[in-house]
Amino acid sequence: MARTVVDEQLFAGLRQGDRAALARAITLIESDRDADAPVAKTLIERCLPHSGDALRLGITGIPGVGKSTLIDALGLQFIAAGRRVAVLAIDPSSARTGGSILGDKTRMERLAQADAAFIRPTPTGGTLGGVARRTQETIVLCEAAGYDRILIETVGVGQSELDVDRMTDLNLLLMIAGAGDELQGIKRGIMEAADLIAFTKADGDAEARAARARTDLKNALTLLPPRDSGRHPDVLLTSAITGAGIADLHDRIDALHQEDVASGRTLRRRHEHNLFWMHRSLEESLVTALRNSARVNAALADLERAVQGGTKSPFQAAAELLDLFRKGGAPLL
Ligand code: GDP
Repeated sequence: MARTVVDEQLFAGLRQGDRAALARAITLIESDRDADAPVAKTLIERCLPHSGDALRLGITGIPGVGKSTLIDALGLQFIAAGRRVAVLAIDPSSARTGGSILGDKTRMERLAQADAAFIRPTPTGGTLGGVARRTQETIVLCEAAGYDRILIETVGVGQSELDVDRMTDLNLLLMIAGAGDELQGIKRGIMEAADLIAFTKADGDAEARAARARTDLKNALTLLPPRDSGRHPDVLLTSAITGAGIADLHDRIDALHQEDVASGRTLRRRHEHNLFWMHRSLEESLVTALRNSARVNAALADLERAVQGGTKSPFQAAAELLDLFRKGGAPLL
């Protein structure tokens, strides 16, 4: 009984936009404690009908490109336009490394003090599916708490752009002119996940270099196939220090969002993403269950030896392991 009361209080506080309640709710869904799982599940179910109206914007770039500084400036623009801004950080690599430097409040000083902003640092550890689940559930909680601009910061390390692209409505890629990564980015497929690209730190001596880089990149991008939106990413110049280009960036993001909502792209992407994560989560859970199966583990070393020794085909061994898993009546998740 006590649990339900706490839950109701938490839900009510969250719906009123109370930041402490939101922070507690997020801690609950990040928790690994079995006792928290049903409370977290109910909370998400209650919040879901109140979510979905926000713009979910991915912001990607290598460390040092200026993500925090730009989010600080852009976030204030959103607030000036009457929006409420939540900044989340996701680091798919934290599933492997257990550490991250994203979502650091001290690096978003002005935004951290704004009443209409909520900043949440990266949760660390867990599987990739776990990181994705927590991020998406956190988005739902933030939206139910009245945040209508959700900025999702991620470090640009290849695969993570593609994962973030499957959680967001629009993606902004940040680059530094002259860092030599303009064309590298094209090679690595990073551009394919970008709706907008900004060359950061376009101030002082770097301004002219950034302008040249912008022209070069715009030309190069026309050679690539357009994104699913039918658009090539626009390339902008920004300086979070002087403020140049930030208002423009803000307006461009809003215009693209309006266009995508009107055309149905936003909704279509969200539906596709939900299916993607359902399947990804299913696969990850199955593999975990398989690896935890006592029968599978008992037979694994022998089968590995047989495969290495060439006395059994890898496919036959895999089929036998799967058979053992099925026969084992592995507990369903
Ligand atoms: P992050 O690692 O991508 O979050 O990058 P930061 O936002 O922490 O910025 C890295 C460094 O670049 C810091 O020393 C910033 O002061 C500096 N920086 C960020 N934005 C700008 C900018 O617009 N102009 C200049 N000149 N420096 C910037």
